[in-house]
Amino acid sequence: MKALVLRGHGDLSQLAVDEVPAPVIRGPGEVRIRLEAAALNHLDLWTIRGLPGLALALPHILGGDGAGVVESVGNDVEHVQPGDRVMLNPGISCSRCRYCLRGEHSLCETYRLLGEHVPGTLAEYIVVPEQNVAAVPTPPGPHPPISWAEAAAFSLVTLTAWRMLVTRAHLRAGETVLIWGVGGGVSVTALQVAKLCGARVIVTSSSDAKLEAARALGADETLNHGALDIVKSVRRLTDRRGVDVVVDNVGEATWDRSLKLLARGGRLVTCGATTGPAVNVDVRRLFWYQWTILGSTMGGAEDFREAVNLLGQGRLRPVIDSTFALDDAVEAFRRLEQGEQMGKITVAV
Ligand code: ZN
Repeated sequence: MKALVLRGHGDLSQLAVDEVPAPVIRGPGEVRIRLEAAALNHLDLWTIRGLPGLALALPHILGGDGAGVVESVGNDVEHVQPGDRVMLNPGISCSRCRYCLRGEHSLCETYRLLGEHVPGTLAEYIVVPEQNVAAVPTPPGPHPPISWAEAAAFSLVTLTAWRMLVTRAHLRAGETVLIWGVGGGVSVTALQVAKLCGARVIVTSSSDAKLEAARALGADETLNHGALDIVKSVRRLTDRRGVDVVVDNVGEATWDRSLKLLARGGRLVTCGATTGPAVNVDVRRLFWYQWTILGSTMGGAEDFREAVNLLGQGRLRPVIDSTFALDDAVEAFRRLEQGEQMGKITVAV
C-alpha cells in the first residue's frame, strides 16, 4: 500500500511517499480500515525530529488522526462491521488497568499513539483495536454531513482540548479563559470548546488575520502578542482581576506571563511546550493566590465519546485549513512546520 513514511529522524527531507506492506488483522478485537482521510498534528513534527527514549522501527508511518471505511474485522468484534464509516481515537491503551477502568486511558502505562509509537494514519490501510473507532455521526437538520476531512481532523485536537478545559480545568460558564497562539488545531478547538462551555474567551496571535478568523469563531477578545503587552491588556480587559483559566501550550516563552495574568484561584492548563519545557514557579505566589497548575494529555474513552456526541449534535465542527493529496503529504508537513495554518491540515488518502 501507499503511505507517508519517515525514513530516519531529522527534518522533512526524511519523509517520503512509498510502498509499504499493508497491515493485517493479527488478533481478536481488531478492525482493518481503508482510510479516506488523515490529519496532521504538531506532535508529528516532534516524531519526525525524534523524541528522547522513543525508538521507532523505521521506516515509520506517520499520522495520528484518520477516518475511513471498515474493510474487515477480527474475532470478537462486537460493535463494528465492514462498510461502517468510522473515525479513529488515536490513543491505544490496555483497557484493563485502574486508569483505563475509570476512563482515564491517557494515564495508562501502555498508552500509545497512532503515528507516534505505532504505525499511523497517513496510509491506505490501518489496523486498530475496536475500542479506538467510533461511527462518523450525522448531525441533524440544517447541518451539512461530516466530510472525510472533517472526520479525520476532529479526534486528536478535540480530545485534547476537551480534556484540558472540561475534564481537567472544569471551565464553567461566565469564567474568562485566555488561549495563547490561536491558529493550530488544539488552540482553535480550545476556543470552540471554551465557547461551548459559556466562557468569555481571549485569544492571542501575532497574526491579525488569525485573530480575525478567531473572532469569526466566537473569540470575545483578540490580542496581537507581537504588538501588545499581554499582561497589561488582560488586566485592562478583566478589571485588573486576571483570567480564571490560561491554556498555555507554548512553554518557556509565555509561562511567566501566563502566571502573571491568572486571577486568584486561577488554573493554568498545559498539554505542550513548543518553545521549551524548563519553567519556574514561585511557590509563594502559587499558594497565596491558590493557583492550580494542570497537566493534560490527549483524553480517555469518555472524553472521546463526549466529543463525538457534540460533533453528532452539530455543536462542534473542526476548522479545516487545507487538504493535500497523499502524494503531496510532504507539502502538507511544510505548511504545518511554517505554522501559518488556521485549523487543521488534512490529507485525502
Ligand atoms: Zn490501561
